[in-house]
This record gives sequence, structure tokens and C-alpha cells, in this order.
Amino acid sequence: MSTWDNVIGHEWAAEILAGAIEHERVGHAYLVTGPEQVGKTTLARTFAQALNCEAADIAQRPCGRCRACKLIAADRHPDVRLLLPEVSGRGKLTLKIDEIRALQQDLSLAAYEVRYKVAILKRFDAATDGAANAFLKTLEEPPRNVVLLLTANDADTLLPTIASRCRIIHLRPLPVALIEQSLRARWQVPEEQALLLAHLADGRLGWAVQAAGDDTRLQERAVHLAQLYEALEGNRVSRFALADKLARKPELLPDVLKTWLSWWRDLTLLAQQAGSNGELALTNVDERDHLWQLAQSWSGKQALASLKQTNQALWQLEHNANTRLVVENLLLTYPLA
Ligand SMILES: [Zn+2]
Repeated sequence: MSTWDNVIGHEWAAEILAGAIEHERVGHAYLVTGPEQVGKTTLARTFAQALNCEAADIAQRPCGRCRACKLIAADRHPDVRLLLPEVSGRGKLTLKIDEIRALQQDLSLAAYEVRYKVAILKRFDAATDGAANAFLKTLEEPPRNVVLLLTANDADTLLPTIASRCRIIHLRPLPVALIEQSLRARWQVPEEQALLLAHLADGRLGWAVQAAGDDTRLQERAVHLAQLYEALEGNRVSRFALADKLARKPELLPDVLKTWLSWWRDLTLLAQQAGSNGELALTNVDERDHLWQLAQSWSGKQALASLKQTNQALWQLEHNANTRLVVENLLLTYPLA
């Protein structure tokens, strides 16, 4: 038994890291990439435990029970630092140069009580250019016995000079069935809820676990879907009113549009397959009947156009377009009932 078991669905990555310890080939920097909440930090934290576990038998590490393992699991170990970017307006993440300098200061001191000092830098893609450049120095000449673990959603968003100095581990979305089974077996999530969350998770177990423990995710989704149905059933006037309401809370819009996007993807699948009864990989499995009904009245082409418009609106918001205009335009392009 070891806490490597917490790394669900990325066993190959755990094996690489455990093997590096076993063969004394631990690199000084790793970059773990993959979608939000797919398990990057869990992998990094478990590696930090394995590097510093106090269990006498190497095969037992990380044991999850010793002092080092417990403190690291709680992000309270003095020699294992977790650095998070700050959230600013519109939910934008930023990692600033001051934070990097403070970390560098800390890493230059010898470890108090462990074999490896570890720094986990979450979402390093949020580092400002200044912060990333300052950090390059540490990557080029790392202090002895320091292991740097960076995470990012996508290696391409980092400066090439950063990525090229790390060993890259790319985590992929997990299969729906694995998420469903894990939710039921490990987190005792009831069958029906596990099925729905596994489909909505987009391959991200962390998202599903969080949503299982906290109803707000599903409640928010219900509100987003209700707003979409309100728009689709409404005329131009009511769509303007809805756009106005949505634009007043710009920080919520990315999530609203992502929910709509997955709904349009399902509708497109159904509309394009109209007539065939094949099993379709729907995300919004609890909306199947409603989607099926609408798929009878709209063509696959119309559904696809709305899917593309929604995707474009999301992109425009991320690129600081005028919120109200983007939402108005989007709602007016959706087909009228
Ligand atoms: Zn341990």
C-alpha cells in the first residue's frame, strides 16, 4: 500500500517518477501538463511524498502515514513549498516576480529535515514574463537536492526556455468509465450521480470529486441550462434582456458558456445522427430527452453553427472583447424556436 494509489488513471506517470527514485535518477525539474483538475497537483504532491517519505523500505514509499507524508499531504511541510498564482479580475491568474524571488531565497537555504527540498509551482503558465525569466536562473543552476515541480495546462503556453529545461509529463483526460467507477468505489458517490458527474467531468477526476462533495457545481449548471432554454424559447426582446442580465456578472460567463458549449455539442451530435439509433457519447446525459426533442426540429447544420458561435464567444471573452456585445451577438445568432 502506498499513496501512489491516489494517482488515479495516470499510473504510467507514477511509474516513471517512482522509477526515477528507485534508480537514483531524479531530475531537478519536471513539468506536469494537462487539463484543469485532471490530477497534476496530486501527482506532484505524491512525488514530493515519495522523495521524502520516512518509511525504511523504499518499496513502501510514499507510505502516507509518516510525519513527512502527512505534512506534505496537508501542504504544511516546511521543505515542500506550494506556490499558487493569485486570482485577479475576470478570474485571471497571475504569478508575480516577487513570489518567485521569495521562493528562490527559500530554496537557497539547506533543507531542515528532508532528503529533497521540493517546490510545486502550480499553473506556471500564469507566470508573468518577468517571473518566468527570473525563475530561469533557478532552472539553469538549481541548488543541490532541490526538485522543482511545475504544472501548467499546456506546455505551449510557457516560454520554450522553461519547458526545455524540464522533463515533461503530459496527463490526459481520463475515460468516463474510470471516473464513474472511482467515484463510486473511493468516494461512495451514489450510482446515478456518479454516472452524471463522470459524463460532465470532461475527463477530469478532480472536478468530479469536487462536484460530488459540493452541490454548487451542479446547481450552477442547472441555472446555466435554464438560462439557455430561456434564450432558446424567447424572442429577440427577451434575449436582449437576458444578455443584459448575464453581462452584469462577467466573472460567471466563462462557466455559463462552457455549459452551453457542451450542450450544443450534444445537440449537434444528435441532430447530425437524426434517424440513427446508435449509442452517442453525450455529455449531458440527464438532458437526453430534452435534447432529443430539439434535435428533431433543428438541422445538424444549425446546431453546429450555434456550437461554433458559442466557442467563438468564449474565445472573445478570454481576449477582452466587450462583454455585453459578445453575449448579445451570441444570443441573437441562436436559432429561434
Ligand atoms: Zn511516508
